[in-house]
Amino acid sequence: MTPGTRDAPPTATKDASQERQKQLIGGYFDELAEVERRGRKAVYTFVPGNLTELLLAFDVAPVLPEINALQSGMRGLSKDYIALAEKAGHSEDVCTYVKCDLGMLESGNIGPTGKRLPSPDLLLLSYTGCFTFLKWFELLREKYRCPVTMLHVPYQADGRITDEMRTYVVDQLRKKVIPALERVSGRAYDEDRLRQLLARSAQAEDDLVRVLESAKHRPSPIDAYFGGVYYIGPIFTAFRGTQEAVDYYRLLREEVEQRVRLGQGPVLPEGALSQERYRLVVEGPPNWTSFRRFWKMFSDEGAVVVASTYTKVGGVYDDGFRHDPERPLESLAEYCLGCYTNLNLPARVEKTARYVLDYEADGFLINSVKSCNSFSAGQLMMLREIENRTGRPGGFIESDLVDPRYFSAANIKNRLESYFQMIEQRRSAGVSA
Ligand code: SF4
Repeated sequence: MTPGTRDAPPTATKDASQERQKQLIGGYFDELAEVERRGRKAVYTFVPGNLTELLLAFDVAPVLPEINALQSGMRGLSKDYIALAEKAGHSEDVCTYVKCDLGMLESGNIGPTGKRLPSPDLLLLSYTGCFTFLKWFELLREKYRCPVTMLHVPYQADGRITDEMRTYVVDQLRKKVIPALERVSGRAYDEDRLRQLLARSAQAEDDLVRVLESAKHRPSPIDAYFGGVYYIGPIFTAFRGTQEAVDYYRLLREEVEQRVRLGQGPVLPEGALSQERYRLVVEGPPNWTSFRRFWKMFSDEGAVVVASTYTKVGGVYDDGFRHDPERPLESLAEYCLGCYTNLNLPARVEKTARYVLDYEADGFLINSVKSCNSFSAGQLMMLREIENRTGRPGGFIESDLVDPRYFSAANIKNRLESYFQMIEQRRSAGVSA
């Protein structure tokens, strides 16, 4: 879900936080390459509903297949991996993260930075709303012949978390997930260690929220979609609960607060944005194969994304949720239950509409990605509903996650230009944002 290493924005003077983020993500892949040699165990799991603190409490290495796929997409590797998977019989309609992962596996499981990834000792399937997660790990189980432990997280069909749902998840953590991790790691569960990790998570989460909410300023000091995916990198990968994450988010927050004090806009790949012309909210994941090009289509127009739903896919911290060391397993359960992929459509409409109003956006855009039914199903309904609630115009573009065949630059650029013209016309007509 998050970029890093080679694709960090090449600004003339890089912020210290950008350098740090790049080091963290690069170091993570270096460490994964050493896992087997050092006798550590590797646990594959997904970003939404990840139990990173629990894994780190057992000193096992988290491996996140979506991160490997998106990083491969940014490095131009996904096209060939997808072709390999399709040749092996996986349909065009399958999520391209899955096909990219399977193609990478067939090619020797060399990770996006060119270093080998460890094979899984356990597939920890934390099921948070996306059915593809199930099928993906079924395929990996066949390939690796390794155990799977499933944490079943009930869908928030009524838009709320009940006591029964929380208890159901905590029971599974105690009776299934923790024993499986004890078996794999050879270590006993240490709740005090878990509490220490969760306390650090909460600190980093506080700072991340301050960074994301800084976009309420004019001009916004951040781009909360294209820039935002760099910010969520460490916390959505393997760093939640670590001192490195605490330090990174403190540094990032200080830099962003300084930009607010100086009245500066976001840092873009080409340097600083001189004028904020449009404030937008974006729903849906980005395209990774043409990430820079996609971003430039916005920044060339002076469009800044002030809030996005995608940056909540690994945790909806701006709603107030924090990991809680006083309630370790309960708060892990609430984290999984509250994941964006586990929210129903009314909750997603409510959240996106609230962003449009709270961040004083001119409108919102939906990037509907072909691969991801989890995000895309219902987005046209969301478009109409959010327009009705906010009175602000919505735009609709289509692309894909890591399949370059579904990124039509000319088409997207046309649609964006028409969308910005519409906002201009509304301004000329005196229709307030
Ligand atoms: S369908 Fe969407 S949520 Fe599910 S695995 Fe693919 S990208 Fe992730």
